[in-house]
Amino acid sequence: MASFNFAAWPPQLTPEQLEALTLAANNIRALAWITIPSTFPITIQYPTTHTNHRDPCPPLTHSRALPPGLQSVYNVLYARVAMDTQFLDTADEFTGTLWRGWKKIREHSVVQPLHLGLFRSDYMLHAAEDRLALKQVEFNTISSSFGPLSERAAAMHRNILASTSYFSASPHLTADNFPENNTTSGLAEGLAKAHEAYGVRDARILFVVQPNERNVFDQRWLEYELLEKHQIHVVRQTLADLAVSASLDPSTQALTITIPSPTNPSPYEISTIYFRASYTPSDFPSPSYYETRFLLERSRAIKCPSLPLQLAGGKKVQEALTRPGVLERFLSNECAKWGTRALDLTAHAADIRATWMGMWALDSEDADIAAALDHLPVSGQGQGNAPPGTRLAHLKAPSLVLKPQREGGGNNVYREAIPTFLDALPAEEREAWIAMEMIETPRGVSGYLVRASPSSSGTDNASTEKKVVRAEVISELGFFGYALFGEGEVVEREVGWLVRTKGTESNEGGVAAGFSVLDSVVLV
Ligand code: ADP
Ligand code: MG
Repeated sequence: MASFNFAAWPPQLTPEQLEALTLAANNIRALAWITIPSTFPITIQYPTTHTNHRDPCPPLTHSRALPPGLQSVYNVLYARVAMDTQFLDTADEFTGTLWRGWKKIREHSVVQPLHLGLFRSDYMLHAAEDRLALKQVEFNTISSSFGPLSERAAAMHRNILASTSYFSASPHLTADNFPENNTTSGLAEGLAKAHEAYGVRDARILFVVQPNERNVFDQRWLEYELLEKHQIHVVRQTLADLAVSASLDPSTQALTITIPSPTNPSPYEISTIYFRASYTPSDFPSPSYYETRFLLERSRAIKCPSLPLQLAGGKKVQEALTRPGVLERFLSNECAKWGTRALDLTAHAADIRATWMGMWALDSEDADIAAALDHLPVSGQGQGNAPPGTRLAHLKAPSLVLKPQREGGGNNVYREAIPTFLDALPAEEREAWIAMEMIETPRGVSGYLVRASPSSSGTDNASTEKKVVRAEVISELGFFGYALFGEGEVVEREVGWLVRTKGTESNEGGVAAGFSVLDSVVLV
């Protein structure tokens, strides 16, 4: 991996060639309905993984970047975490309303034993001591987005290769080096498996979406795949819609949606609820929105994700798994007690741990954190009474990011901003935060980004203003997987990947938020 010369990428292209490639990309984007606002550009290819693999279209995890099958181990791991109520309670107690709602629901009866997860495990390249390795940023258990759009980004790059050969600018730019990405069919397969398990052929799948959803086209591709390949209809509703349209059968807890419309013969019974909303505080503008979320949880429909599976994706859980013995316990045969069939995966523990950066809780009093403090030259100034976890974060601030137990993005505290932040953080809020070592991506890596000017958003001439910019970039690689579980065997599969690339000046990752662009992979 270390032998690839990043400084030589991207290959040199003349301004005329770049213009031709940008035009080709923009034409395909129009055809592919990728019409997220103009803050949604796409890059020309940039190598994210590095392998000698020569199969025509090898799955990416079979590259040397990650051990084969790792996503499957992650799929099972998070299924088991979601089933371990006691473990989630210790990690999530303070998360608030969702956890409390779940606790109340599970004390009565849970009528649907099955859970569905559509996951995305995100990684970045970490350059340490002359070695490159993929390190996990986070594991998403709710609303793992951009599957279908990343498939289209990969297809766009293959199409441009077919039509232009990228002007033979690099020997790496050949068809063999462009891996397949069939995320749409894989994610839809997960939803269809849940639908089948529910067992009512004519039932529909409910997509719970945000009002004025910006990711609508990412979701529509899944909807079309479900209809065309699986003959399953989808209903899209916001939580506000559902406050009016959703009801539970008092005896069976079956969820039905009633939409008064002359063309829709509703009510529909719902087999599976796919949440693309209800993970960020703004999804719950008033307490009644939580009531709607809990009504859905109480239903017989299979939830993607259920509340425990959503909570399993929290940063506190990610951190708790790194503590000594915790991962190993989840991978061991003990798992039969979590409602997933015994299957000893402990042989994979080292591979999983190798993808992790150091993490700890700000309220940690653990012996290993205290010991790490002792090895540092000075003790935390002004933090004398703080727990070891907070003092260690103070001392190591320049190489850390702090993350709150909250989804939705935009809340992390990076490096130099950490000490001031810690000084102002009330003691009782420490338990909601974790410290994570920064993944140090290789420097001097560039790419061509096609950026639209924000001012042209939504106007007809937007496409003529697309500009190609050469910039130093960081890429984030995500692997998708699904898991259907809750009784016996975990039904799971790795189903595709995503690359987002951003200029090095930005810390945050969200594509639709305008910080980064969709990308794909060249194997070298
Ligand atoms: P969110 O739940 O907001 O998506 P993430 O953990 O994905 O939170 O963090 C958001 C972004 O911050 C990531 O996409 C990545 O660009 C950056 N980031 C997060 N953790 C790290 C890390 N340990 N090292 C480097 N960058 C990170
Ligand atoms: Mg993220």
